[in-house]
Amino acid sequence: MVEFHNSSRGEEMRVAQIQTHLLRSRLKRPLGFSQFYYRERALVLVEVTAEDGTTGWGECYGPAEPAQEAIRACVENFVVGQNVFDTELIWHRVWQRYLDHARHGPIMAALSGVDMALWDLKGKLTGLPLHRLLGGAGVEKVPCYATGLYFRPLPEDELIRESLQEAARYVEAGFRAVKIKIGKNLTFDRQVVEALRAAFPHLTLMADANHAYSLNEALWMGRVLEDNGYFFFEEPLAPHALEDYALLRSKLEVAIASGESEQTRFGFRRLIETGGVDIVQPDLAFCGGISEGLKIRALANAFGVDVTPHAWGTGIGFAAALHFHAVAPPNPGRLEGELLFLECDCSENPLREQVLSETIAVEDGYAVVPNRPGLGVEVNQEALAKFQ
Ligand SMILES: [Mg+2]
Repeated sequence: MVEFHNSSRGEEMRVAQIQTHLLRSRLKRPLGFSQFYYRERALVLVEVTAEDGTTGWGECYGPAEPAQEAIRACVENFVVGQNVFDTELIWHRVWQRYLDHARHGPIMAALSGVDMALWDLKGKLTGLPLHRLLGGAGVEKVPCYATGLYFRPLPEDELIRESLQEAARYVEAGFRAVKIKIGKNLTFDRQVVEALRAAFPHLTLMADANHAYSLNEALWMGRVLEDNGYFFFEEPLAPHALEDYALLRSKLEVAIASGESEQTRFGFRRLIETGGVDIVQPDLAFCGGISEGLKIRALANAFGVDVTPHAWGTGIGFAAALHFHAVAPPNPGRLEGELLFLECDCSENPLREQVLSETIAVEDGYAVVPNRPGLGVEVNQEALAKFQ
């Protein structure tokens, strides 16, 4: 039995308090994907304050209220009073405490947000950008794909027309890759896939089904995507159908991506070792944080599986993903290789747009890696008050 002790070496800055901010914003129009329509965006921001008053920020992905409550009831105890730099110790104490009952779920989302805030704090206290703490960015900017083209409650021909206009805006803004939603119904899905390809013959396109299909449907859809030169097919199947993922992948050439609903290296191990994915998409605000994201990436790398983080919250989570991705090892690496596209959510989200004093620059489809300490972003206090 290993016991963890407080380190008495090094920086002695301790965590003074954790505050959570549950933010909500109603959307102008419902935002649909294969499972339901969002009518609001809601998430928890985590503010960790050190003894000297320095604050670090993180966010949680997934249902907001349970994550907020889990921070208060389950995680806070293990963090307040601890050394800010002891992110591994803190992670393992929380993991060990809830191993019997909560290896997956809101407690892990809560820990993810707190871990992210601690990494931001470590950067601010040392004056180093997160990418430096993570081992050094190989690039100054990261290629992004625009996530959009959600379903709207419209007649389908109108929806397809609107989707084409939306994609045109992303192309106009400089994006070289766009991810669309499928999984509405097979007729519509095929139409939208083909319409996008016909309108944008040279654009890199990906399609996200949010686990809408049976194995047979996913096979059929995968062939439609292949015929139209799509780059990856995201969450074709239910996240627990690992054997079906492996079967599907063995019959298709289009890359299979999944993992936004998975957590920890142990969850990702099952997803990866069954052989059903080419690309995993851990969300650093959900998978166990930056600390666990690094382990998931090392695991994936050993299996030759690519990693590109899922990010669907505010600029805080996007900044974490950006630093994390900029430090990605080449897989497999070559002179003229480029990083895999990083997700840049462009769907309606007033929280994402307003919660930072200054949004992260995305220029010509590339996100510029911040060089200021920590995540390199500042929270807009007025927006915090407005959305609570
Ligand atoms: Mg997705």
